[in-house]
Amino acid sequence: MTGGSPGSAHGSNSTAGSTGTTGSTGSTRSTGDSTRSVHAGRPPATAYEPSLPGPVFVSHYHLPGEATGPYTYGRDENPTWHRLEEAISELECPGDPAATTLAFASGMAAVSAVLLSQVRAGDTVLLPSDSYQATRSLQERLESYGVTVRLAPTAGDAQLAALEGVRLLWLETPSNPGLDVCDIRRLADAAHAAGALVAVDNTLATPLGQRPLALGADFSLASGTKALSGHGDLLLGYVTTRDAALAAGVKQWRKTVGAIPGPMEAWLAHRSLATLSLRVDRQAANALALAGELLKRPEVTDVRHPGLPGDPAHEVASAQMRRFGSVVSFTLPGKAHAERFLAALRLTSEATSFGSVQCTAERRARWGGDAVPDGFIRFSVGIEDAEDIVADVLSALDEAAEAV
Ligand code: PLP
Repeated sequence: MTGGSPGSAHGSNSTAGSTGTTGSTGSTRSTGDSTRSVHAGRPPATAYEPSLPGPVFVSHYHLPGEATGPYTYGRDENPTWHRLEEAISELECPGDPAATTLAFASGMAAVSAVLLSQVRAGDTVLLPSDSYQATRSLQERLESYGVTVRLAPTAGDAQLAALEGVRLLWLETPSNPGLDVCDIRRLADAAHAAGALVAVDNTLATPLGQRPLALGADFSLASGTKALSGHGDLLLGYVTTRDAALAAGVKQWRKTVGAIPGPMEAWLAHRSLATLSLRVDRQAANALALAGELLKRPEVTDVRHPGLPGDPAHEVASAQMRRFGSVVSFTLPGKAHAERFLAALRLTSEATSFGSVQCTAERRARWGGDAVPDGFIRFSVGIEDAEDIVADVLSALDEAAEAV
């Protein structure tokens, strides 16, 4: 999918379309994803000033007299975060002045901020049983605080059946690493009817792939470490909401816990947003090309990518996603076969992340904690040439098979 025709065929369940207004141009004319990615959060052009002012390194601001804002102390506010936060709001919620984003030190800082600021002893949280494993690892901490944690799978909107009495419904779609997808609108409507708040982990899709708030979620949050920043050189997280009271609670949490991003990381992430649209388009196209080739290999099973027409998640994904992400998962006949495959890759390095400009892959079961077979590979497709990626993978598959 390209930025030119997002969501076009998807009817009423689609996100809010490709357009929004570009803050830094001051224009109310609608803009496309690439334009918005380039300009988001940048100040209006000012003579002799850079288009993106450099990172502000500061712990305390000069603060004479009455202690009023906007800048008081470095754990509360930073102009470099503010510009990045405005940019992410423009991507998550184009043209919506109510959207507020808060940047965090990492994706897990953002995940914890929402979970731990919103629930109290006696509340029930419903997590996906197949979410990113560090999110599920918060179960023990939550339970020790008197919160009940329920788990249900992402696929088939199975969380619907477990909503009774829930205070916070957590969705992760597509899920990491299984790439299952749930219907955000359907689950959000049911959760709201049951009196629950809804948070969506938007890491895999990015705001250009999916707009959870337009689909009814109360929070969209993500690891900016992945495709959002996309260069494998920083950790970052963010939370976006349209609700001022919810934003205030999350901000207060960030301030008290101190889970703040470094100014350098925030600036680098903002600089990287300019190419977000190019990167996610290319990654999604490359991922689809690779997935198509993998389907032809007899030793490869369970090829998953939401953009594949035959994928179990494709129908729901097509209705709510505008780009399908960089990750392809598949299974090789066992641990040894998978390890031979990974060792034989030349272009692709073995690493435990995704969304970067370069291809990375890992045997996910090496960590434990995910319900995946020993030969399960999570492959993150970069922006290299599709032919080179496919050639690398096919030759590594040949090498891994020959050694049997
Ligand atoms: N959410 C998802 C879906 C992830 O995959 C990850 C990391 O892999 C995180 C959150 C946490 O992000 P970070 O590593 O930036 O803390």
